Amino acid sequence: MVHTPARPPVGAPPVRINLYSDTQTLPTPAMKEAMMRAEMGDEQAGADPTVNELCDRMAALMGKEAAVFMPSGTMCNVAATLTHCRPGEEIIAHETAHILTSEGGAHAALGGFQILPLRGPGGQFSPDELRAHIRGKSRHTPTQRLVEVEQTANIGGGTIWPKQVLDQVSAIAKEHGLATHMDGARLMNACVAAGLPAAEMAAGYDSVWLDFTKGLGAPLGAVLCGSAEFIDEAWRWKQRLGGAMRQAGICAAACLYALDHHVDRLAEDHANAQALARGLRQIPGMAVETPQTNLVYFDPAGAGLPAAELVKRLRMQGVQLSILGGRIRACTHLNITAGMIEETLGLLRAELARG
Ligand SMILES: *Cc1c(COP(=O)(O)O)cnc(C)c1O
Repeated sequence: MVHTPARPPVGAPPVRINLYSDTQTLPTPAMKEAMMRAEMGDEQAGADPTVNELCDRMAALMGKEAAVFMPSGTMCNVAATLTHCRPGEEIIAHETAHILTSEGGAHAALGGFQILPLRGPGGQFSPDELRAHIRGKSRHTPTQRLVEVEQTANIGGGTIWPKQVLDQVSAIAKEHGLATHMDGARLMNACVAAGLPAAEMAAGYDSVWLDFTKGLGAPLGAVLCGSAEFIDEAWRWKQRLGGAMRQAGICAAACLYALDHHVDRLAEDHANAQALARGLRQIPGMAVETPQTNLVYFDPAGAGLPAAELVKRLRMQGVQLSILGGRIRACTHLNITAGMIEETLGLLRAELARG
């Protein structure tokens, strides 16, 4: 759903302030040094010590038995649904979920699964909405197998599913014999903002994964966690999908570095997002969604310029924003400072004043 940045307008300068996405963070010099020092082995053979250390740490962090290192978050979602479900079965998810909007139809193409899209504000469905969509078992209905949630809900505005709602959702799923999966691409953003450990957030979920390429700033990698049996089967899917690697420790070292150095600092990204939202709200006519984490969605139409025009004008000043569902998204991350937020607000105000 987040599209690759449009080709820059003719004459646009290089991007100085990249609010496009937290996927565009670059490894820091210290992270690169940790990568250079990584011990490596054959990951497919289970013989890469750095990957093994990362998986052990992640399983402990998430409170699960086992973990597997994947090249991407998308592969975590795909391997997870392929492990949980059989062809013709149904996955229940929010209508804006990444598995539904942004994975190239992988779950239908590779698994033969259908996704039942639920509605609700902020990228979240309520326990009542879930209950209302549990199908009775009959020859006519698809077999429902899995309930999926996204923490934080990306297109929903980077919102945090409250722990209590997560628990209610997983309890309803269990009551009806459904498995549960958490897309935790930005789970640590939720944990830092809510002050809760990841293991508590994910307690009711059979599988959960974390992306290291979002605000955590690693160049690649995500880790899927679950029971030992689940991870064994997910490993088989990783092999089938071509995700089994060799000397992957060089990448796992970046993820370990991120766990040690880039988790607590997510609070800075959230503070920068709040500062941006506060500044935007002072602009008359600007519609701003209150950020809960590092994503700020706003619509400048009421402030005098259409979203696309404002994005283009900012790009001409070296500031990259994105457009999602007609509104602008600004994403704070490792490479964004408080000063850059102030500068962006100044440029925005100037462009709106120019009209
Ligand atoms: C980015 C993202 C993914 C996919 O992760 P990749 O590492 O880019 O494949 C999945 N779910 C959500 C919510 C995301 O934001």
